[in-house]
Amino acid sequence: NIDENEASLLFKFILIGDIAVGKTSLLKQFVEKRFNDDYNLTIGVEFNIKYIQVNDHVIKLQMWDTSGQESFKSVTRLYYRAAAGAIMVFDITRRETFENIRNWHRDALDNGNSRMKFLLIGNKTDLQNLREVQFYEADQYAKENECIYTECSALQGFNVENAFMELAHQIYQMA
Ligand code: GDP
Ligand code: MG
Repeated sequence: NIDENEASLLFKFILIGDIAVGKTSLLKQFVEKRFNDDYNLTIGVEFNIKYIQVNDHVIKLQMWDTSGQESFKSVTRLYYRAAAGAIMVFDITRRETFENIRNWHRDALDNGNSRMKFLLIGNKTDLQNLREVQFYEADQYAKENECIYTECSALQGFNVENAFMELAHQIYQMA
């Protein structure tokens, strides 16, 4: 078990992406290891904390869950600057949410610090038969834009822990 009092590093993550792609569900799965079926609209920005261990360091992860609604974009912008990592999420069953990643990414680059690390998540892999975005397309976007692509299912808990830990490792290596 991780001793929170041993935390010697603080990393801040921000989750961005369109509404209903699964940002809150991914966070809940990562922090609480469960999936909540009721839909709870995120208003403004909500905070989540989780302690992790990387090598011999305990790290406090402070994660900001944003709404994705256009009307909250100006609030979201206030959080970019302090974020070491941005998790950009789209829904593999809704192509428009992938097309919009470009805008989210631009927004983060324009408002964040220049060392910010990016992780792109295609969520809802449990809905394979409804897939509208192929793995290679998103992977190609990631390769061309200095981020990593990975796919998850917040519902099944598939690959969620790995994805968040991968971003933490990348930031740890720079710290
Ligand atoms: P947010 O607006 O990006 O925070 O999205 P939410 O986490 O609130 O999820 C939006 C909707 O998608 C909810 O009805 C969730 O139950 C559903 N959802 C989230 N993740 C998954 C997933 O991995 N698979 C499936 N099938 N549904 C999901
Ligand atoms: Mg939400």
